[in-house]
Amino acid sequence: MPSLAIVWHRRDLRLQDNPALARAAEQFQQVLAVFVIDPAIIGRDDTAPARVHFLRESLAELQRAYANLGGRLVVCRGEPAEQLVVLARTLGAEAVFFNDDIEPYARTRDQKVIEALAGAGVAAHPCAEILLHPAAEVLTGQGKPYTVFTPFWRNWSAKPKPRPFAAPERLSAPSVETGTFISLDELGKPFSGKLLVTPGEQAGIKLLDHFCEAALYRYDERRDHPAEPGTSLLSAHLKFGTIGIRAVWQRTIESWRKAPADRERANLAVWQQELGWREFYKYELAHFPELAERPFRRAFEQFPYDHDRERFERWCRGETGFPFVDAAMRQLNTVSWMHNRLRMVVASFLTKDLLLPYQWGERYFMQKLVDGDLSANNGGWQWAASVGTDPKPLRIFNPSTQARRYDSEATYIRRWLPELAPVDTAMLVESERFSPLFRSRYGYPQAIVEHKSQQQIFKERYRQIHSTEKQADTS
Ligand code: FAD
Repeated sequence: MPSLAIVWHRRDLRLQDNPALARAAEQFQQVLAVFVIDPAIIGRDDTAPARVHFLRESLAELQRAYANLGGRLVVCRGEPAEQLVVLARTLGAEAVFFNDDIEPYARTRDQKVIEALAGAGVAAHPCAEILLHPAAEVLTGQGKPYTVFTPFWRNWSAKPKPRPFAAPERLSAPSVETGTFISLDELGKPFSGKLLVTPGEQAGIKLLDHFCEAALYRYDERRDHPAEPGTSLLSAHLKFGTIGIRAVWQRTIESWRKAPADRERANLAVWQQELGWREFYKYELAHFPELAERPFRRAFEQFPYDHDRERFERWCRGETGFPFVDAAMRQLNTVSWMHNRLRMVVASFLTKDLLLPYQWGERYFMQKLVDGDLSANNGGWQWAASVGTDPKPLRIFNPSTQARRYDSEATYIRRWLPELAPVDTAMLVESERFSPLFRSRYGYPQAIVEHKSQQQIFKERYRQIHSTEKQADTS
């Protein structure tokens, strides 16, 4: 058996269901796990403090979990290709195992690492991990990538799913000079904000268990009501890989078998489809890396957005004067997470009421969200701005209609806008009825725009770009 392999962790901060770790432990006598703090990522100005916190705490737990098995996880800082070559050379490691990623930066980085390791005579083993089915394995009859969700889902969901990998029972690690490595404190100052989720693999497993015991079976009935605890809250765990997607899928299959009746199964199937959306947006980014920079619908690069910074700042602070929008932005600013229904509402509001570029909102979300993830965030924003893949008929959310439908008792609005707590429900879900005097009495902002007229302006601009798009398609 060859002697030593390195397992390079990135967004797979767990022992269970970890293909790179499982393979390295199977093939090598000793395994050293490493996390490289990459200044190119940590130093970006859209890195949310909540995500750095989640990363640091999850890594700290992973270090303890490795130690419990007799293994070791070390941390270093620097350019990954350089760091891994130095480490492999110093320790005499024969191979580096790591799980794949589909983001454009990660793919370039990984290619560089593979080449640098080859130059140093060290084998690189990228392992398929981040998707249930690699992007190249799900194609249309013409061998092309899907750009619409429903046919993608039909093809994708019919494929047999890979089973989770077991965690190694014991590990052996080489003794290494501690001076070479750094402490996790180098990941910045402690986070003082509140989070709805606890970082780390154990918390991820518990959350999945808890969700599958009950809420999963009522998912579809409750998922759009932000005042209720109807969704899994697993997004940060899926982002950082403190839970593996194969393990999550396997749980849905077990839950299916245990489901008391068709009604529960129908609810569960909707949750599986949400996991399908996660997969779809990653799949799209894998096939079209340029999505990170521009809209899928090229003509919409020319959309005449306004660039009003003051309106943008009010949207960020949750001071638009539209209670459902403001409640959501305050939720984001307070707990670094926002309910999916509200992500759609505030994204529609930014792009179609305030007429601001979707990229501004996309970036603000990345600066705040604990689950901020390029593919899901970019996909969500492009969808909401009607510029992305899977084009649906043009949809503009009316914040009051949304509030009446999904927060009919105004519980969510009151929770995040305490200044409006004494106001009648009927008023809260129909803020058009707020007079200027009423707003000042409650210290609540005047409406930033008038929804109806902004909608008309948006539709007119959209119609013009859409006709250019049609001309380009036919020429
Ligand atoms: P659940 O409803 O329990 O869903 C389970 C899992 O499925 C989620 O954890 C997530 O991994 C995945 N999922 C669910 N819905 C979607 C979706 N529409 N697109 C992609 N994956 C989905 N999700 C992120 O993980 N990171 C983001 O940065 C992100 N930004 C978004 C921005 C916008 C404008 C929109 C409209 C959506 C965004 N989403 C993002 C998708 C979705 O809002 C979150 O995944 C969801 O709210 C997380 O809560 P949950 O874990 O309780 O989800």
